[in-house]
Formats: sequence, C-alpha cells, structure tokens
Amino acid sequence: MNLKQNKIHILGAYGSKFRNMNPTCFLINDSICIDAGNILAPLGEKAKNIHYILLTHSHLDHILDIPFLIDNTLSLRDFSLNLIGLEETLNDIKSYIMNWDIWPDFSAIKLLKKDEYAVNLKNINYSEIFEINGIRFQPVKVNHTVPTTGYIINEKIIISGDTTNSEEFINTINKIKTIEKVFIDVSFPSNMEEIAKVSKHHSVKSFKEEIKKIKRDVEIYVYHMKPLFIEQIIEEVNQISKDIKFLKEGDVFYF
Ligand SMILES: [Zn+2]
Ligand SMILES: [Zn+2]
Repeated sequence: MNLKQNKIHILGAYGSKFRNMNPTCFLINDSICIDAGNILAPLGEKAKNIHYILLTHSHLDHILDIPFLIDNTLSLRDFSLNLIGLEETLNDIKSYIMNWDIWPDFSAIKLLKKDEYAVNLKNINYSEIFEINGIRFQPVKVNHTVPTTGYIINEKIIISGDTTNSEEFINTINKIKTIEKVFIDVSFPSNMEEIAKVSKHHSVKSFKEEIKKIKRDVEIYVYHMKPLFIEQIIEEVNQISKDIKFLKEGDVFYF
C-alpha cells in the first residue's frame, strides 16, 4: 500500500510559453493548482474539477490560463473557482485582467448551475499556514520584482515561486527538517547574470551560491527555465552536481 496519498503532477515546468513547453503549473490531487500557466491543454474538460488556484504572484506566465479556465467551465461547474494569493496579486488580477476591458469580472458573475459567484478571491499572508482538503500550505516570502510567495506543501515539498536569492527561503529549508524536495526557479544561464538580477530570478551562477547555504540533505529540482536557454542551463547545472534534477511536464510525485 502506498502510504503517500497525495500527488503533485507537473503540468507546466518552464518560465515561458514555447513549442512543447509551458509556463508554471502544478496540479495537486486533481482539484488544486499552484499557479495557472498551463491547465486547459493537459486537462481538457477535467479542468472543471479545479476548485482552488494558489498563486505565487501576478506575472502573466503564472496566471495565463485563469481567464480561459473560467470561461470554458462556467456552464459545467457547480462550485466557485477560488483564487488564493497575496492581496497584491489578487488586486492585480482584478485591476488588469478581470476588469471588463480585458476580460469579464467573473467575481461578479454567477455560475449557471448554482447561485454562487464564478470566482472567489481569498487573500493569504506570508507564513500563515492554511489547509485545503487536508493538505497544509505554508506561504514563504521570496525575492522577486513583485510581491511573491513560495509554498511549502505538507512540510514535505517547498516551491520557490519566482525568486532570486532569498534568505527566508533558504532558512526555511534549513529549519523545517521534514522538507524532502525543493523546487527552485533557475531561469537563466550564468552569462545572463545581469538580466537575472534585474528580473529577480536565479541564474545558474546565483543558484550555485544559494544552494551552498542549504545545510540539509534535500532533493533539488530546477524549474522555470527560459526555453531558449534550457540546454545551456542543464549543462551548467550538471557541472555543479549530477544529483540536481530538472522538473519536466508530466512528472508526478507522491507525498
Ligand atoms: Zn515566471
Ligand atoms: Zn515572475
């Protein structure tokens, strides 16, 4: 019997959209997504089962499928879509996406099958643990160009969100001894360190320095690579250590 009951399925592993590569999206147990970069293409009509989307931040590659998800499933669903994120993230979605100019405000539109609004927005705060369907999520403050949160899932898996060096992220990995897997943003190769700094992502160079500060034995998975630089990033990361892995679309982990 598999005692690890919960599963995380990688639907989108990259830092942009390109041929056969999709932006960040992690599906947990069929009804919870962390980020919404790629929901509809892999799930089709099953996307109607998505009940919660936990957002790391407001950038387009992380919210991309939200407008189409709710548009396509409005007539199929009998429960609201809960968008969960930092206040700044949800405000940006209201101001710039669901503002009636770019897309309808689905938080003011009712479902067809039930007398409930199609979308609910729920704020979270850094470090405040919350539970959905028996799974615990802990937001972790990270260091990006807009307010951004990583998430710890059931004290087992930590996801960085988009980030460059973040003391809080590393301290959390060292402090919570049950964390087994670390998913971390490495968007650029080392020779693009300047662009990485300006856009507040890791290059392989800053990633190499950052992971030296991890004092525990954890499995490290790189994700959010920018599609055009993937081969170079993989080659450089392999030179740091062959033990570091790369998230791929279709990967499934149990926890
Ligand atoms: Zn991103
Ligand atoms: Zn970003």
